[in-house]
Amino acid sequence: MESVRFSFPAPEIDESVDELRKEVRAFLKEEVRSGGFIPVTDCWCAGVDPDFSRKLGQKGWIGVTWPRQYGGRDLSALHRYAITEELLVAGAPVHAHWIADRQSGPLILAKGTEDMKRNILPQIAAGKCFIALGLSEPESGSDLASVRTRAARVEGGWEITGTKLWSSGARHCQYMTVLARTGERDPDKRHAGLTQFLVPLDSPGVTVRGIRDMSGVEHFNETHFESAFVPDDAVLGAVGEGWKQVTSELALERSGPERFLSTFIVLEKAMQHSAAGMNGHQAAVFGSILARIRALRAMSLGVAALLDQGHSPEIEAALVKDLGTRLEQDIIERLREFWPIQMKQGYGDEFQSLMSDSLLRQPSFTLRGGTNEVLRGIIARGVGLN
Ligand SMILES: Cc1cc2nc3c(=O)[nH]c(=O)nc-3n(C[C@H](O)[C@H](O)[C@H](O)COP(=O)(O)OP(=O)(O)OC[C@H]3O[C@@H](n4cnc5c(N)ncnc54)[C@H](O)[C@@H]3O)c2cc1C
Repeated sequence: MESVRFSFPAPEIDESVDELRKEVRAFLKEEVRSGGFIPVTDCWCAGVDPDFSRKLGQKGWIGVTWPRQYGGRDLSALHRYAITEELLVAGAPVHAHWIADRQSGPLILAKGTEDMKRNILPQIAAGKCFIALGLSEPESGSDLASVRTRAARVEGGWEITGTKLWSSGARHCQYMTVLARTGERDPDKRHAGLTQFLVPLDSPGVTVRGIRDMSGVEHFNETHFESAFVPDDAVLGAVGEGWKQVTSELALERSGPERFLSTFIVLEKAMQHSAAGMNGHQAAVFGSILARIRALRAMSLGVAALLDQGHSPEIEAALVKDLGTRLEQDIIERLREFWPIQMKQGYGDEFQSLMSDSLLRQPSFTLRGGTNEVLRGIIARGVGLN
């Protein structure tokens, strides 16, 4: 078998990235000190605070890689990386704008109409417009090409009918990117006939219902579309190109620091807890976790560099997500050796609360954004194994 090389180039990080990082870090420290937010575990999924997102928008820290004419700052993917890393490490409540900043905004920039770019991107960058991902359905998750939500052509636009499931944060969002079937199903061409739409969630015929997860949070949503009308210019990209567009978003979705830092806040608190009396075994555990984080960070930065160069590193991104999400879970499992979790009996102890929240949230890490089994299938195909 031909040997396969993964590419994780080490990017050059210039001074302006470090300057920006320091600025973000100082701001977050002050926010925590002044009670602006209480750090949460898995903050990019569990921490929703639209006011905080607006504050970040005012600082100019959302959509930084987009052109200035659309509300961005023309900065590099590495500047964005530094901002997101600092937010995650601080456990800041960033979920409201996270998906729009990470992938819906870039999708609009690449495929949207000029009106979408002029009207929606600046609102996202200001932390005022949030977008949900409408991919999964009741019987379509891993097998996304089987989606049944249908968009039928009508005069002046399309009528969308179907149900999207598990959409993170949709109740707080103004829009959803909806993957819908616009062509006939063809068993020989499973990825054909799909189109993406940008649907305002206040459109007539759209209802969004929250679903409580086992941590008690209504993070998930079920969204029904009952002949919901959208005009022609709600098509994102080209009719029939939905599959190609969705898969090109995946490298953005799977490779960022949120795929290995979701539980970092707990690790940091644990290290602070034990700083005075750490024994050899604890030191070895912390050391091995930190070594894995360092390796993953290098890989994830490598993917950011590839994205900056215009590549679409899907296999590298799948590797980061598989290894990273398992690490996030391992962190909690290893810490439980030293700090058995007492499930919530009030929120008195900050560390216990972070631990028990993490325990309830960790099963989702290896599911969201594509399950690890599916990612391994992608990696295996990428290296020519099946
Ligand atoms: C916290 C969280 C947030 C989410 N947010 C969103 C969102 O915003 N928008 C959205 O559209 N979706 C979202 N999802 C849904 C997520 O994308 C799906 O849960 C995921 O793709 C798996 O689909 P499924 O749940 O239907 O499981 P299934 O696809 O039914 O999988 C069940 C099991 O079978 C395994 N399996 C399936 N196919 C294969 C295969 N080919 N090879 C090997 N094993 C396989 C899977 O690994 C899994 O263990 C979210 C999920 C979570 C947990």
